[in-house]
Amino acid sequence: MATRRIGIHCSTAGALQNAGLKALELGANCLQIFSGSPRTWAAPDPEPKNVAKMAELRKANDLTPLVIHANYLINLCSADATNRPKSVTAFRGEVRRGLTIGAEFLVVHPGSAKDHPSREAAIEAFAEGLVEACAGLTSPVFSILLENTAGHGNLLGGDIADLRAIRDAVGNRLGLPIGYCLDTCHSYAAGYEITAEKGLKQFLANVAHISVLSRACESPGCSSASISIGV
Ligand SMILES: [Zn+2]
Repeated sequence: MATRRIGIHCSTAGALQNAGLKALELGANCLQIFSGSPRTWAAPDPEPKNVAKMAELRKANDLTPLVIHANYLINLCSADATNRPKSVTAFRGEVRRGLTIGAEFLVVHPGSAKDHPSREAAIEAFAEGLVEACAGLTSPVFSILLENTAGHGNLLGGDIADLRAIRDAVGNRLGLPIGYCLDTCHSYAAGYEITAEKGLKQFLANVAHISVLSRACESPGCSSASISIGV
């Protein structure tokens, strides 16, 4: 089994397994997908025959991990009376589909704090939304990954300490492991000088501070390589 994992985001257009085929064609040994349209609230259940084909393809080609990126409409820290329940329901759908297709990770952005009086309140709201969305759903091998962001405006996650704060706020209320997905592009945009040795070392020290670095791989991110940190 390969120890270095390099993948890319692939389209599931036509059928779930098409993403796996594309990843293999490109020489990748892991991949990221959207489990539905990234810009619509609802998504159909995966077709069992396609789930089986994808599992077969992955097993035969050591294509792992399979990462899902949650859709872009979801804002689990929203306080809006319409957006919040929609986000919770949509994220629950993401988790259910992830469990159905046997994915290992589900990446989600921490959302926008614009509805809240403080970042702390937004972090608390995100944690509550996450717990509500995942209620009753359990797996030891399917992890939620909190992704850092560029942090512009009211976005949480520009400071990677936000990710740890969310995880602490969730505590042990989730039946799924929680980890982090570090997008290098977002990190740089947020002000971490990771293109220089000194800045990269500082960034990695911050990463070590928020989590025990139990696993590092170059897993597929939104727009760049990411570091996936296990729990
Ligand atoms: Zn992302």
